[in-house]
Amino acid sequence: MEIIKVTPRGYCQGVVRAITIAKETAAAYPNQNIYILGMLVHNQYVMKALEALRIQSVDDKRKKRIDLLDDIEEGVVIFTAHGISEDVMRKAEKKGLICVDASCPNVKRTQEIVKEYLRQGYEVLYIGKKHHPEAEAVCSTDPRHIHLISSANDIPAFHSKPVFVTNQTTMSIFDIEHLFHIIRQQFPSAIFSEEICNATRVRQEAIASLEHKNIDCLFVVGDRHSNNSLRLAQIAEEKHIPHVFLIDSVQDIHIGEIKDLQRIAVTSGASTPTYLTNQVIAFLEAFAIDKAAEKPSVNIAEIL
Ligand code: SF4
Repeated sequence: MEIIKVTPRGYCQGVVRAITIAKETAAAYPNQNIYILGMLVHNQYVMKALEALRIQSVDDKRKKRIDLLDDIEEGVVIFTAHGISEDVMRKAEKKGLICVDASCPNVKRTQEIVKEYLRQGYEVLYIGKKHHPEAEAVCSTDPRHIHLISSANDIPAFHSKPVFVTNQTTMSIFDIEHLFHIIRQQFPSAIFSEEICNATRVRQEAIASLEHKNIDCLFVVGDRHSNNSLRLAQIAEEKHIPHVFLIDSVQDIHIGEIKDLQRIAVTSGASTPTYLTNQVIAFLEAFAIDKAAEKPSVNIAEIL
């Protein structure tokens, strides 16, 4: 059995920055309650490790960020790496909360580009995932003129209006190419700005390059709420890798599914702690030599 470590994989700069900001906030406000609006990054182990630093997540998938703020009355609120809209920021400030913005600069850049085209009178087609906080933050800027496109069925019909097209930073490079092509046919004079971040792009390209390399199986270490982890698994399936497993940690590996395989690849999403990926790789390498190798348990103290 051969274990192939896909590179690049794991933490991106935006996630490292958000976690650093959260840790610094915990140190700077020892006597305040500290809340995160949503999940700082989409990984349950990171969230558990932040709880150990007394940083609480305020989250409810049925609620928008602006409504989640109703559950915070005092203290510090951290806005996540996925970005935040101006109305949420204003509401938090009005409530007297201390605001800490951990938005990724790549997400902010897309928000600024969208605002600029709105100022110029464009209708914006924003390709993103429904109910994802990054898409929510962008679309709430001007819901009348920003149209969320999750599939070709969502493309609206306009006449004689300038159209600007962009996207959420963590979408599949292949899906975006496909949707841009369809939109271009409908709006030949539309302006396009592809905003997939570099971390997402190079991780996806690394998976696509596995095609025709006789890989039997790919483990994507990542959380089911992580869009970039889901997209890595999606691309692997589209590239015909026979077995693709999205796993939270080494504990989710089922021996029966891999014992007869020869070439196993491992990658991880941009929000997956290196510690978790290293545990998976170490276990698979041990298993390749000794089928009686035991899976280690996850120690939350090692996550951040
Ligand atoms: S995946 Fe990209 S956009 Fe998201 S936090 Fe990382 S660098 Fe920023």
